[in-house]
Amino acid sequence: MTSPYQVRQITPNVALLLAPNPSPWTLEGTNTWIVGTPGSGERAVIDPGPADEGHLDRIMAALGGRTLTQIWLTHSHGDHAEAAAPLAERSGATVYTSRAREGQVRVAEGERHVLGGVPMLVHAIPGHTVDSLGFELEEDGIVFTGDTLLGRGSTAVGMGLMGDMLTTLARLERLAAAGSGRGFPGHGEILEDLGAAAASRLASRRRRIADVEGRARAGASVDAITDELYAHVADPSLRMAARHTVVSILKYLDAREHGESAGAHGR
Ligand SMILES: [Zn+2]
Repeated sequence: MTSPYQVRQITPNVALLLAPNPSPWTLEGTNTWIVGTPGSGERAVIDPGPADEGHLDRIMAALGGRTLTQIWLTHSHGDHAEAAAPLAERSGATVYTSRAREGQVRVAEGERHVLGGVPMLVHAIPGHTVDSLGFELEEDGIVFTGDTLLGRGSTAVGMGLMGDMLTTLARLERLAAAGSGRGFPGHGEILEDLGAAAASRLASRRRRIADVEGRARAGASVDAITDELYAHVADPSLRMAARHTVVSILKYLDAREHGESAGAHGR
């Protein structure tokens, strides 16, 4: 049997290395992506993952003697970003992130970069966190979606970010329609049809918002709504996240109502 932690070449320019951190939050573990053309002597890593020595060793080995020059972070959660500093130290690579610390490079929406010979466009895709980034390889038709859109299931929406999440999912749908039709997520399987995946998440988020709205209007409490809508969620930490989602939706509905009546302050 082959190890799940062996590097897999997904496309000529992109390889995948699974980190050994499975959990209810991270599915099989964090997807660490290695980007570069076959002819380039340089490589970029997207989401180096947790600071696990074995994983770091496997990343270095997967470079196949090429130089790691860039480390990109879709967002700053530990399961994606923890290894950035130790990997930068080992390789001499520069860290690119929306939340740069000393010695790192801050990147933002609309910037164009080249990763191991592969052109890349940066997108702001808030929703899971306020500062999540998506990385689009336009010529390869791929978008790295981080935890904003997972390979399967529903991601946690950051507090107060439900409106952003809806906007972001619609945006991912447009990117797919414009030619970047595959999604490479932070956890779970590759999204072979990014447009369909984004559309289906958007539809189920809207359904869930309507579910919460109906129950809230009928006077149900946050806990009662959570118990009813997430009866199938047994894991305590995921159940807590579900409760946060309900609160997030109530805030979103409140802001929407307020925004509509305030008019001039609409977003
Ligand atoms: Zn994650």
